[in-house]
Amino acid sequence: KWGQLRQRLLKTVGQNNYTNWIEPIEFRAADDGIATFDVPTNFLGNYVNQNFADLILHELKSEDPTVRRLEFSVPAQADGTAETTNKATAPRAVPKPASGSALATAPLDKRFTFDTFVVGKPNELAHAAARRVAEGGPVTFNPLFLYGGVGLGKTHLMHAIAHELRQRRPDLNVLYLSAEQFMYRFVQALRDRKMMDFKEIFRSVDVLMVDDVQFIAGKDSTQEEFFHTFNALVDQNKQIIISADRAPGEIKDLEDRVKSRLQCGLVVDLHPTDYELRLGILQCKVEQQKANYPGLEIEAGVLEFLAHRISTNVRVLEGALTRLFAFASLVGREINMELTQDCLSDVLRASERKITVEEIQRKVSDHYNIRLSDMIGPKRLRSYARPRQVAMYLCKKMTSRSLPEIGRRFGGRDHTTVMHGVKRIEELKSQDGQIAEDLELLRRALEE
Ligand code: ADP
Ligand code: MG
Repeated sequence: KWGQLRQRLLKTVGQNNYTNWIEPIEFRAADDGIATFDVPTNFLGNYVNQNFADLILHELKSEDPTVRRLEFSVPAQADGTAETTNKATAPRAVPKPASGSALATAPLDKRFTFDTFVVGKPNELAHAAARRVAEGGPVTFNPLFLYGGVGLGKTHLMHAIAHELRQRRPDLNVLYLSAEQFMYRFVQALRDRKMMDFKEIFRSVDVLMVDDVQFIAGKDSTQEEFFHTFNALVDQNKQIIISADRAPGEIKDLEDRVKSRLQCGLVVDLHPTDYELRLGILQCKVEQQKANYPGLEIEAGVLEFLAHRISTNVRVLEGALTRLFAFASLVGREINMELTQDCLSDVLRASERKITVEEIQRKVSDHYNIRLSDMIGPKRLRSYARPRQVAMYLCKKMTSRSLPEIGRRFGGRDHTTVMHGVKRIEELKSQDGQIAEDLELLRRALEE
């Protein structure tokens, strides 16, 4: 019964989630409305409980409507190596079927190569370091630690290294996996009492690549094992490449000794993309898209617009482009600004940074070196009134607030006062070079 149920869960949660979270849990019994499951670790049990309990319960109920609640616990281990459970559960040694323990590399994305990686200022160091280790020469820095925010190309670079090494150095045993997969395999080895095999395999690789290492923070026994694996490989002068979403020192719940180990090689970061890099990436991806949609044209200015308006995350940028091409080919239109606005309105809205009246007021008062209270207050002195009008003007242009709303935030002024101020600045903009310059500076500072 659990077997069929698992199959249904596989369909709902997808292969990855299934392999990582559902497969390792084992149905034990349903009693008194409570269904109990054996889990290999508390961590996994908690995770499943938080993320999949509703789904599992739903499926179980279709088989047995009396089930009301799920419980996950770690069966007592004879060797006591697993993270032990606090919940008192009937001790039961569960014989687990032996599963193949050869450590294949996680699948590599064919598209993630150095050829398709666009280099710009924000990622040039990370790229250069990745290139260097991909040469497969003598180990110069160990580990190489790449970090940066979501969608900035960490996984892409790691796959590129793996592809390159396979080509140049087919003799080397290169193992790439995510920290999550490392944990999962470790847990599985514990469960199947195959720790010796696990250790042996991990210690026999020539290049170990672990993606998203922040994942093991707070998972004590996994961290411990990772630390030992790491040390064993460094001792043998084997290359290690690690990625994370932040610098080693900034990963919370990571043991100090692990942190310091991670820091002892070369640490490079991928900075948020800038306009030029985004444009470069878009140009490169357009070529790839055109291969899928021959004959589809893209109007000048669209890519610039997207590079300007979409956030630093390259994944979002790529998604937008894919959608644009699919949409254009569906409706049989050319990709121009109008279609872009129609098709991507949600993405554009989401990536729009909301500038607030308060922010504008703060920036303007800083700029003119006056007190915020004086700028908002009733004083009519020119040295307050002019900045006040500048701020009102910017609020009108850069926020979606109405004139009365803006007036209210400027010490309860009337909407006609705001309107007057906005008009005045509009006039001055073309006559007074200083005002024009101030506006430009402020606008740029606010858009940052
Ligand atoms: P991360 O692992 O840092 O979250 P990924 O490596 O998964 O990010 O990158 C997200 C997407 O953006 C991928 O499709 C990747 O190919 C693309 N990408 C990121 N940076 C670049 C780049 N510099 N050139 C080309 N594509 C990039
Ligand atoms: Mg990644």
